[in-house]
Amino acid sequence: MGKSSKYLIPLKSLSEGVHEYEYTLDDAFFGHTDSSEITKGTVAAVLTVHRTGDIFELHFAIQGNIVIPCDRCLDDMTLPVATEETLYVKFGEEYREEDDNLIVVPETEGTIDVAWYLYEFVALTIPLKHTHKEGECNPEMEKILQAHSSVEASDDGESEATDPRWNALKKLKETNN
Ligand SMILES: [Zn+2]
Repeated sequence: MGKSSKYLIPLKSLSEGVHEYEYTLDDAFFGHTDSSEITKGTVAAVLTVHRTGDIFELHFAIQGNIVIPCDRCLDDMTLPVATEETLYVKFGEEYREEDDNLIVVPETEGTIDVAWYLYEFVALTIPLKHTHKEGECNPEMEKILQAHSSVEASDDGESEATDPRWNALKKLKETNN
């Protein structure tokens, strides 16, 4: 995610008590993530770090909009995001995730980069199936999809017969055998 120093929280040097960080996750933020389904976004995140001794409670309040491809027509669609997450961080020998929300960071470094967590928390809100509202899909794609599904319904499930090129290919394979 490139230079993410503003996402690097200097836990070790924080005083006891509450510290607040505000972020705007924009197109550049989401664009920098390689394995990203999210192409764009404008998401506000408020991170509150509460230090008690060497235990840190990180509370994330995340709200905004992201842009992802629609499952049905593949065009961009906007999805509202609103989520809250809490992470606990303590120091240890080396970095590890003790469980889903307890992170151990090396005491020698004493920092945590929250960029990845911010991204992950946003990504977790994406429903498994996400499509435009009924009637708002790309009309060209909708026509193709409808034509395809009506052919499929009318030929007893043998949908491979829909494209004559596949038959030609099959014949070719058969004669080669
Ligand atoms: Zn769509």
